[in-house]
Parts: sequence; structure tokens; C-alpha cells
Amino acid sequence: MQPDYDATTALIVVDVQNDFADPAGSLSVAGGDGIVGYVNAQIAAALDAGAFVAYTQDWHPPSTPHFVTAGGPWPVHCVAGTWGAALHPALTQDAGPSVRKGANGEDGYSGFTMRDAGTGDPVPTELAGLLQAHGTRRVVVCGLATDYCVRDTALDAIGLGYPTSVLVDGVRAVDVRPGDGAGALAQLASAGAVLVSASNARVVDQVRSAIPTASETVA
Ligand SMILES: [Zn+2]
Repeated sequence: MQPDYDATTALIVVDVQNDFADPAGSLSVAGGDGIVGYVNAQIAAALDAGAFVAYTQDWHPPSTPHFVTAGGPWPVHCVAGTWGAALHPALTQDAGPSVRKGANGEDGYSGFTMRDAGTGDPVPTELAGLLQAHGTRRVVVCGLATDYCVRDTALDAIGLGYPTSVLVDGVRAVDVRPGDGAGALAQLASAGAVLVSASNARVVDQVRSAIPTASETVA
């Protein structure tokens, strides 16, 4: 099963950056570079159909409360202008604009909204405006990582009212705790996302089996 792209679809390619996708990256996601060929095929299909394609990139300053060096949860990654912040070299680039998030030290994961590091207030990116400007009526999400930026970007798209599909073959999870990725897919499915995969039945089974785990960890 493949998503149907048309001129009112937006494909959002989340954070396929060296620090996440390259095995040498500082926050390397297992199998992250393995999605690039699939994602490129999706970009090509989207462009063929006249869909809008947008990328997101983590784009952090050298020091931010997002990093463990300043009390945050993550190793230093995707510092603006560095190799780690660059899109993976094998990824089809320039199919559309790239939304760079976190440049002013904001924390968070969604391509639509970060949080001010001091006040915690939401800081919107330009992504929602880009979708509006392109007449978007449906959103398709792929990229890295399932359990953080993909999840939060897709949840925000749903919250904005867009029917949203997640390309299960085009995402990979950090899995800080085993099962986080499957739990994120379960959360997305219950929020109304359509999980698209070449073998959809298998994905549905995985998501079903992940739901008790997800609710346990939430409790
Ligand atoms: Zn980050």
C-alpha cells in the first residue's frame, strides 16, 4: 500500500540529518540511513503528483537546554551549520523548503512548534504557513525519529486538522526504552493517523501488541 499523492498533499520529510541518519552521527538512529532510498522514492512520487514537499531539520545552537551539556536529555547534535545538521547526502534534496527548528535555543521535537527554552511557551515555525500557502489538505510524514520528531510533527498535523498518514517503512525509532517506536505508532494510530506500509497487516499487529506497553508506560 502506497500513499496517493496529489497537488493538495504535503510530504514532510523529518530530520533526515547526518547526526540521526549516519552511523557516525552523534545521535545515530539504528537503521536511519536504511530509509533514505525509500524516502527518495516517496519524494519522487510526491513531486510527480504535484504535491508539496518540505523538509525539517534540527538546527541547534552549540549550547541549549535541549542538550545534556546544559541539563537537557540529549547529546549535542545537529548544531547549526555542522556536518551533523546537514541533510544526509544520499537524500534527494531541494525538492522543497527546509524548516529549521530550534535555532534560538528552543526545546522540542515538532516541525510545527518548538518551546521557548526559558518560558516553555510554544514557538511556531513557518511550517504551518507553508502548508497553508500550498493549499495543503492532507499530510504525509516520514523520517527520523519515530518516537520523537516524527511523532510530534504528525500529532501537530492532526491537531491542525489535516488527515495525516505516517509512512511506517520510512521511519525509524530511537527506542531509548525498547518499544518506544511501536508505542509512538500506536499513539499516532489512536490519534487518527493512517499508518502506511507495504505490509500493512504486519504493522497493525505490531501496533496492537504495543498498545498495552504504551499505556503501561504512560501510567
Ligand atoms: Zn534536537
